[in-house]
Amino acid sequence: MRAAYFRGNQVIELVDVPRPTLKPGEVLIKVAANGVCGSDRKIWRGGFELIPGHEVSGTVVETTPGCETPIGARVAVYIPRYCGECLYCRSGRGNLCPHKPGLLGWSTDGGYAEYMALPERNALRLDDRVSLDQGVLLLDTLGTSSHGLRLARAAEAVTVLVIGAGPVGMGAVAYLSALGVPEIYVSEFSDYRLGIAQRYGAIPVNPKVADLEQVIRDSHPYGVDLVVEAVGTQPTIWQSFDLVRPGGSISLLGEYWGKVELERPKSEWMINDIHLIRSFYFTIPEFHENQQMIVDGTLETGPLASHSFPLEEISAAYALFQSGDTVKVLVRP
Ligand SMILES: [Zn+2]
Ligand SMILES: [Zn+2]
Repeated sequence: MRAAYFRGNQVIELVDVPRPTLKPGEVLIKVAANGVCGSDRKIWRGGFELIPGHEVSGTVVETTPGCETPIGARVAVYIPRYCGECLYCRSGRGNLCPHKPGLLGWSTDGGYAEYMALPERNALRLDDRVSLDQGVLLLDTLGTSSHGLRLARAAEAVTVLVIGAGPVGMGAVAYLSALGVPEIYVSEFSDYRLGIAQRYGAIPVNPKVADLEQVIRDSHPYGVDLVVEAVGTQPTIWQSFDLVRPGGSISLLGEYWGKVELERPKSEWMINDIHLIRSFYFTIPEFHENQQMIVDGTLETGPLASHSFPLEEISAAYALFQSGDTVKVLVRP
């Protein structure tokens, strides 16, 4: 089968490798689509030993004894390699499983290949009315964002600021719009992304041409109910504290591995009853709730999958994503 490997320095090589062989309890899927993710940038530059790709949907083509998933089932890949038995796993919170040895596509071969092997319990069934592309969007784009927003009680918010409208930030905009949140501000440098946010009814702010703090303070002198930080930098984390109102919430969704400095005189965060939510991925029940919202027509996914490329053109997919003028870019093996 064809598979892509990241060789470092943004070089992606396509090679022929054997199809994966299944271990007990696993299923094999024919990969339909794999989403390009901001979290891939590190390995795109630095190289990676395994087949990358962790936002995957596909069709089951082979199973092992004891599996109940039929051949032909369409699935999305839930990446935490959860144990299935602990306190967290029994309630569908595999994202919090303390026993997981890693994530599919990070500690195992991922979806930039024609076929991918995965434990059956990580193959989440798609409703007949949900497409394989939507299956990818239900993962990092909508799953990760809506999990953080649920924890931040976004349904109670009237005014929200989303900082950064990459795939996760735009997923947050889509979910907030589905919840009917009346005022959603989006701060983003790409006018392309701002245009898509506007299709969800959001108020666009490009910090290159407008002073975000001024725009928010003009209408909301105390700040907004909820700030969604979807960039992952220290300045945008500070900005979140500056623009959340006393009693409000901050949902940190941006990937940020550095040291977070919270001390900032201006924000006075310590005396303002700020709820700070740092979340990881999403739960399996939430996946099914979001899927139902797509089926019901409340969650609009149309603008989220902005581009697609065949696997042979994966390098072009990464170059385009790097330009910032995309939402989710899909690669089709
Ligand atoms: Zn991702
Ligand atoms: Zn567990």
